[in-house]
Amino acid sequence: MYKLIDGREISAAVKNNIADQVAQLAQKGITTGLAVIIVGDDPASKVYVGSKKRACAELGIKSEEYALPADTTQEQLLDIIAQLNMRSDINGILCQLPLPKHIDEKTVIDAILPSKDVDAFHPVNVGRIMIGDFDFLPCTPAGIMEMLKYSQIDVEGKHCVVIGRSNIVGKPMAMLMLHKNATVTICHSKTQNLAEICRQADILVAAVGRAKFVTADMVKDGAVVIDVGMNRPDGKLCGDVDFDSVAEKCSAITPVPGGVGPMTIAMLMQNTLTAAKRQNNI
Ligand code: NAP
Repeated sequence: MYKLIDGREISAAVKNNIADQVAQLAQKGITTGLAVIIVGDDPASKVYVGSKKRACAELGIKSEEYALPADTTQEQLLDIIAQLNMRSDINGILCQLPLPKHIDEKTVIDAILPSKDVDAFHPVNVGRIMIGDFDFLPCTPAGIMEMLKYSQIDVEGKHCVVIGRSNIVGKPMAMLMLHKNATVTICHSKTQNLAEICRQADILVAAVGRAKFVTADMVKDGAVVIDVGMNRPDGKLCGDVDFDSVAEKCSAITPVPGGVGPMTIAMLMQNTLTAAKRQNNI
């Protein structure tokens, strides 16, 4: 019988703790503030931004939304970021990706002050994660580490296999597991013998972006399976793991929805709180 790793329950516990700390800062006259920028009207991005704003409201974090039209120029966007960088009441700045094609994502990411980069995408923060000296962790991998900790699943000495090598999920995921003394294998679209490698995993993280990609034949008996995927092949949210066939083989598994997704938002709130503390020398 597998244990369901409940992201809603764990994120609620994390958020309770954040709300307490935000309230303590407020008692000292410090407002915790997050600016969320969205350019264009990508429906999935709108949903994510809505969830982030709701989480801020729930936790007492002030949120400011900049909903910019799709034809916003890169210069206009950089101007807004420059203004937000200078504001002491805005601790975190998040620019929802993807951006329209005429805007260079790297230039935009580089423009956010590293101390306000609550997504942890800026090269300075990426470098600090690499050497294990960081303030912010990228939200999705950090949320997964929190889920494992809460579920008392120790990664030390385990063989962790991460499918996916994106800068946002796969690579930082592997790095965080390495910092916790796991033996890590990263797989991608050119990996040979993928199923065989996955079958060696004590902990398997699927961050592929393909619905039901991980099937039962790719999973070792008793493995822990973390499903990062958020796919909507027929409009309905579905993970990268074929949950129905895989779950019975696992000791623990995350569902979609209700798994990694809520944790990502909770960790964004955590990073915003950390930013507010650092900027106020706490
Ligand atoms: P991404 O940038 O598209 O990266 C996907 C990775 O999967 C790439 O490294 C790619 O390999 C690899 N891949 C693709 N096809 C493969 C195959 N057949 N075999 C092995 N590897 C393969 O995606 P991402 O941003 O990391 O996101 C991954 C998934 O997580 C998406 O469904 C996304 O929506 C979801 N996501 C969820 C959350 C959350 O909060 N739950 C947050 C972020 C992302 P190559 O590098 O060789 O192309």
